[in-house]
Amino acid sequence: MTSKLTPEALELLDFERFSRQLGLLGVEGQLSLASSTVAVVGLGGLGSVAALYLAGAGVGRLILVDKDVVESNNLHRQILYTEADIGKPKAVVAAERLKGINGKIRIEAIPEPLDPQLALEIARNSDVIVDALDNWRSRLLVDAAAWREGKPLVHGAAERLYGQATTVKKGVTGCLACIAPPNIEASGCQAILGPVVGILGSIQALEAIKVITGVGEPLYNKLLILDAATPSINIISLKPIDCGLCIDKLKIEERMPEIASIL
Ligand SMILES: [Zn+2]
Repeated sequence: MTSKLTPEALELLDFERFSRQLGLLGVEGQLSLASSTVAVVGLGGLGSVAALYLAGAGVGRLILVDKDVVESNNLHRQILYTEADIGKPKAVVAAERLKGINGKIRIEAIPEPLDPQLALEIARNSDVIVDALDNWRSRLLVDAAAWREGKPLVHGAAERLYGQATTVKKGVTGCLACIAPPNIEASGCQAILGPVVGILGSIQALEAIKVITGVGEPLYNKLLILDAATPSINIISLKPIDCGLCIDKLKIEERMPEIASIL
């Protein structure tokens, strides 16, 4: 991804602030971040960590999407929020918090439920989309929108002591539905330890930074699997196929009629 060198991006180029990462990203990489828009969809445990690191790294514009309000049982893992935020919309609180990290970046809070129109709008307005959601129905909606717009989607998911991450992009990898469970309606186990989503959210922020700057290799056609119990991290290869969004495999059009308007 090449930097667009907008005046706004140049204004974000602060050599002192970014002195510890410029040696890795270079000025060009830093400007690429500054001129990029990343959408973080889902501002729970994964999204909290990913958004904090992306704001810190100097991504020029963040789109924060979550319809929920902060609850007390979020606080053990959703590190964007404090007790004073309970009952407030996560997207709005997150935007305020991230402004405190870098007041120059632009942040758009969308405290609304995901629907096909919003998913498409997010995909059109972003360079990278971070899937920090907690259910496959919403994930596949965002995946379809990202696929249609040809935008990279950084997937992360976690439950109990386990998690996974990969990055998908049309023309480079298969889609997210390629690795979706057969029953997308099944709700996962709600038990989770905070550091597990912390690790996965960090990996997602890293993926977005890699995709934007070209530094390192994103998890294209690779699935990272974290087993925090053992502990171990394994990377398995995924087939680099243009899967056509796995419509037949998952019968998405039948099971998710709302997705038909996107495809
Ligand atoms: Zn697929």
